[in-house]
Amino acid sequence: MTPAIHTHSPIHTDGTFSHLQCKECGATYEAKAMHVCELCFGPLEVAYDYGAIAARVSRQTIEAGPHSIWRYREFLPVQTDNYIDMGTGMTPLLKANRLARRLGLKALYIKNDAVNMPTLSFKDRVVSVALSRARELGFDTVACASTGNLANSTAAIAAHAGLDCCVFIPADLEAGKVLGTVVYAPKVFAVQGNYDQVNRLCSEVANTHGWGFVNINLRPYYSEGSKTLGYEVAEQLGWQLPDHVVAPLASGSLFTKIYKGFQEFIKVGLVDEKLVRFSGAQAEGCSPIAQAFREGRDFVSPVKPSTIAKSIAIGNPADGVYALDIARKTDGTIESVTDAEIIDAMKLLAETEGIFTETAGGTTIAVLKKLVEAGKIRPDEVTVVYITGNGLKTQEAVQGYVGEPLHIEAKLDSFERAYERSQTLERLEWQTVVV
Ligand SMILES: *Cc1c(COP(=O)(O)O)cnc(C)c1O
Repeated sequence: MTPAIHTHSPIHTDGTFSHLQCKECGATYEAKAMHVCELCFGPLEVAYDYGAIAARVSRQTIEAGPHSIWRYREFLPVQTDNYIDMGTGMTPLLKANRLARRLGLKALYIKNDAVNMPTLSFKDRVVSVALSRARELGFDTVACASTGNLANSTAAIAAHAGLDCCVFIPADLEAGKVLGTVVYAPKVFAVQGNYDQVNRLCSEVANTHGWGFVNINLRPYYSEGSKTLGYEVAEQLGWQLPDHVVAPLASGSLFTKIYKGFQEFIKVGLVDEKLVRFSGAQAEGCSPIAQAFREGRDFVSPVKPSTIAKSIAIGNPADGVYALDIARKTDGTIESVTDAEIIDAMKLLAETEGIFTETAGGTTIAVLKKLVEAGKIRPDEVTVVYITGNGLKTQEAVQGYVGEPLHIEAKLDSFERAYERSQTLERLEWQTVVV
C-alpha cells in the first residue's frame, strides 16, 4: 500500500468553523475525531461562525470557485486549502419534463448524483470532505462501515489521496459494489451480518485501532458534505430554493443536511427565506423512519432490513429522529414503497428521462409517484427529487424485469422479419420477445 502522505505543507486559512457541538445538550468540544457527546451521548455537529462566512462569501465568489463541492469551501469543515478535489459535486440539475407529465407535475427537477465523481453516487461528497479532514487531523489509515456506495467512495478517494484504507461491508452486497471497491485495492472485510452489525463491529475497531472511520469518529465532518446537495440545487435554480424536495433516507443524515444547507444559505443571505417542504423515501423492507412518521411517534424503533434497496437498508438510523422532526415541521411526509414499486420506478425513470439509477433512486421515484397520487405534492410545486446512485452498480435488481435484445442473423431479411414483428407487438411485449 501507498505510504501515508505527511509531506504537504498545509496553507492555513482562518477556518470558518471552530469546534464541535452536541446537537442535544450544546456541550462544545475541540474539532477532533469524535462523534458522541461525553455528557449526554448526543451526536456532535460542526459549528461555524456565520458572520465570518457572510463577510467572505457572495454569489459571485461562489460562482468564481472550482466546479466542484469546494466552491462552498467556507461552509465545509476544513482548515486548509489542501482539500481533496476529484471533481466531486456540481452534478446536473435536470428539468424532468417527460417524467413530470407522466406523474402530473408542472415543475419537476432531478438532481442527478448517479453521475457524481469519482464513483457515481452522492457518497463521493461526504467522503471528499471526511478524508480532507482526516488528512488535516493526521490520520494515515481511513476506514468505513458501508452499505456499498460508501465503500466505493472511501476506497477510490483514499487511493487518490495516498491514504491506507480498510473497508467493512455486509457479505451479501451486490457484485458491482464489491468489485467497485476491491479494484482500488483497499483491505476489504466482508462481514457475516447486516449493516447494523457491521457498524457495531466498526465502532469497536475504531476504539482499538487509531483509524479514521469516515462515518463513525469522523462522522461530524463526513455528514457536512451532504449540505452541498442543498447548496448546488439553490445555485442551479438561480439562487432560489425549491418548494418541495424528495430524498432517500438510510441513516437520515443526507436528508437532515440538505435542510441544514438551505438554512445556512438563508442565514448568510445567499437566498431568500422560504419554507421548503421535505419528504423522505424508504423501502418498505427497511422503513423504521417511515413507520415512526405514520404512527406519529417521535422515536424510531430499529428493524431488521429485508429489501433490494441495500444501499439504504439501515435498520437503526442514527439521524432518524432529526429526519422525522424536519419532515413534520416543514409539512412533508416520510413514505415507504415495496420492492416491486422500486423496480417499476427504476424503469420509469430510465424510460422517461434516460437516467439509470440504482435501487435507492427507484425508492425515491416510487415515493415521489405515491406522494403525487395521494395529493401530498401539488402539481404546481417546484419539486426537486434527489437521485443518489447509479443503476449499473445494482444490475441484479432489474435483471429479468427489462427487455432483451432481438437476436437476428447478420442478414437483411432476418432483420426485416424481426423489425416487422417488433412493430406489430405492443411495446412492452416486444421487449421480451426473442426472434
Ligand atoms: C448512503 C446512501 C443514501 C442515504 O444515506 P444517509 O445515511 O441517509 O445519509 C442514499 N442513497 C444512496 C445511493 C446511498 O448510498
